[in-house]
Amino acid sequence: MGGPIDAGESYLDYNATAPLRPEALSATTDAMRTVGNASSLHGAGRRAAEKVNRARRQVAELLNCSPTEVIFTSGATEANNLALRLSYIAGKPLVTSPVEHPAVLETARALTSDHPDDLVLLPVAADGLVDLSVLDQVLPAGSGGTVSLMAANNETGVLTDLRVAAKSAHEANASFHTDATQVIGRLPVDIVELDVDFLSLSAHKFGGPQGVGVLYVRRGTAVPYRPLLRGGGQERGWRAGTLNVAGIAGLGAAAEAARIGMEEEASRIAVLRDRLESQLLRSISGCRVNGCLDQRLPGVSSITFPGAPSDAVLAAMPDVAASDGSACSSGAPTPSHVLLAMGLSRQDADCTIRFSLGHATTSAEIEHATQAVVRAVARVRSAMT
Ligand code: PMP
Repeated sequence: MGGPIDAGESYLDYNATAPLRPEALSATTDAMRTVGNASSLHGAGRRAAEKVNRARRQVAELLNCSPTEVIFTSGATEANNLALRLSYIAGKPLVTSPVEHPAVLETARALTSDHPDDLVLLPVAADGLVDLSVLDQVLPAGSGGTVSLMAANNETGVLTDLRVAAKSAHEANASFHTDATQVIGRLPVDIVELDVDFLSLSAHKFGGPQGVGVLYVRRGTAVPYRPLLRGGGQERGWRAGTLNVAGIAGLGAAAEAARIGMEEEASRIAVLRDRLESQLLRSISGCRVNGCLDQRLPGVSSITFPGAPSDAVLAAMPDVAASDGSACSSGAPTPSHVLLAMGLSRQDADCTIRFSLGHATTSAEIEHATQAVVRAVARVRSAMT
């Protein structure tokens, strides 16, 4: 049996979804071969619950939190919805940024639709950094409310200084949520050090299966009186519904594998990303890298190729998997809201490709992708003139 990536192809779309890690594949299939509802009290149920509890410990170890602070969900979209719904109080500020994933931005807009003044979007600089210095002004002392800021942007990889953001939120008595979907499993995150109240993650971004994630909820937070899903009392009332035992087992195994190799993996990936970037910058005239270069995820590169619309470039190199904007919005005719918020023109946003590398990326994939991109951009540019 071959690996997940065909020979002669480059899979550079880890921010959309990463290939399953072998450890996650075997934990998931092993759990799928067994029967048992994790809430049942008989032996089969207990064995399923053991798998879930093991994964809870594996996630807790990755985040440096307690297993009781880990709530399993269907992914980061649900975790973000749950966090904002739990923490937003009508009449209090809900502070976020215009470069968030739609799972935060659209939820924040919907929650504040009856109180539009509650929604505050922080300014974003041309390098993609969210301006945290204005937090003190938008959250006066004792204002309460909620701050939700992503740990790393899915399109540019630009990182937010979570320590500074959480501190400002707490000084105003506001709670702090971070959508850490693109950071978990890629860079070390220590919940205690960061002092966040809620954190969302998704297994499939770091080599676990799709459709499973976590909301970290700080110990002592009251169980919701308005949960997202109404039903049984699973996850101690935080999230109703039969637990996805196989998915959760895979998430746990991926969390452990990512934790063990993280620092080495991050530097290996950064070397490959830098090689891709420098070769493209050298070979293609006029191209530019978007986002703050020294405050970025190791595996992400957002590059604008002026005069070469990204949909045409991607179509001209079908053996390179990359993305125009985020996968969630691809297919939609609107340009990336992230790149527009950073001040790119609509035209440049439409000529931007996101390459994202990860745990299984090889240098052969990078060499192949470099040549393919150079050829594809040249072909599209000459067809446009
Ligand atoms: N937040 C961010 C930053 C993401 O990149 C994604 C996935 N594109 C999500 C949330 C949604 O995650 P999921 O697909 O697991 O619901």
